[in-house]
Amino acid sequence: VEVRVLKEAAAGERRVAATPETVKKLLAAGARVQVQAGAGLAAGFTDQAYRDAGAQIDDAVDAADLVLCVQAPPPELVARFKPGAVLVGALHPQADAARAAALQARQLVAFPLERLPRTTRAQAMDVLSSQAGMAGYKATLIAAQLAPRFFPMLTTAAGTIRPSKVLVVGAGVAGLQAIATAKRLGAQVEGFDVRPETREQIESLGGRFLDLGVSAAGEGGYARQLTDAERAEQQRRLAEHLKGVDVVICTAAVPGRPAPKIVTAAMVAGMRPGSVIVDLAAETGGNCEATRPGETLDVGGVTVAGPLDLASMGAIHASEMYARNVLNFVSLFLKDGALVFDWNDELLAKTVWPERPAAGEIPPV
Ligand code: NAD
Repeated sequence: VEVRVLKEAAAGERRVAATPETVKKLLAAGARVQVQAGAGLAAGFTDQAYRDAGAQIDDAVDAADLVLCVQAPPPELVARFKPGAVLVGALHPQADAARAAALQARQLVAFPLERLPRTTRAQAMDVLSSQAGMAGYKATLIAAQLAPRFFPMLTTAAGTIRPSKVLVVGAGVAGLQAIATAKRLGAQVEGFDVRPETREQIESLGGRFLDLGVSAAGEGGYARQLTDAERAEQQRRLAEHLKGVDVVICTAAVPGRPAPKIVTAAMVAGMRPGSVIVDLAAETGGNCEATRPGETLDVGGVTVAGPLDLASMGAIHASEMYARNVLNFVSLFLKDGALVFDWNDELLAKTVWPERPAAGEIPPV
């Protein structure tokens, strides 16, 4: 089996889908591994490090049976893949019609890792979680950097500095890491979420759970969209609360939908000058109405940042985690140098795109 590790093409993408460490394990599973020149450089892994691990450096893609990537490769590259090749990455095929068409035209066996079921067995392969952890961490550091205040309480000869009040909106994987990071920096941290079980998780990190009176647990442990009445109640209480907050870090998401708009323009206008909002949900439109993805704005004295590529800002550790996630997923079907798919394994069956008909439902030719 020929495995190819792509050099990422997307602007701002610094991560890589395999590290020298995971290359060794792929070799041990009987694969031949070729890495595109410079693929790991932005994440701190030189071509020589991959060679030392046993890979070859080669840019061609046409002979690969299994291609590993972070983001979906551009359609013109996909057009050069071997028909029927296997592609693993955070592919988001439905996000772009040309991308979806290119994958299907090549009849690739595509595994968009964001489709992986969030089961216990899948945890070691869960790229959403590993990358969200880095994103939450960086979002807090960006907020600390932009804030015209200290995060910790300080007792100085010039008097006492009160700690910053940080509110984290949404306490999933990214939000909890944002809370933990703000706490380590000494801020007074609060968090809220519509899933009631997050109260205990926030408190276990030393944060305070902000109760906005809305509980909206949905399917599969995720949040559901709020009703109009629930949203109005959440917004009324939040607007009041934000007047006393220095930093807001937004991380709320509902699977398959644009980011819920939680912080309105009126709420931003009601915040104290010098406050900072970092909107980690910017990639899917943002939780704050004032967010412009990729930009940092001054909105009436409030700094509103919508950073993109947060995981890439920590490219070394993000790549190490991503590459291990990919290796663990690939180990489901790479055995003794061959690709063997057990379509009864739900991790494969539910991740593959387009969806395959279940065994027995395949129509006779
Ligand atoms: P996510 O990125 O989809 O959403 C982030 C957070 O936003 C979630 O906690 C969600 O409840 C919250 N949210 C949505 N709408 C909101 C609103 N209007 N107001 C406030 N908060 C709102 O979520 P995620 O971080 O990927 O994790 C979602 C769930 O999956 C969690 O329960 C997590 O523990 C679970 N999970 C399970 C596994 C596993 O078992 N393998 C792995 C990772 C995550």
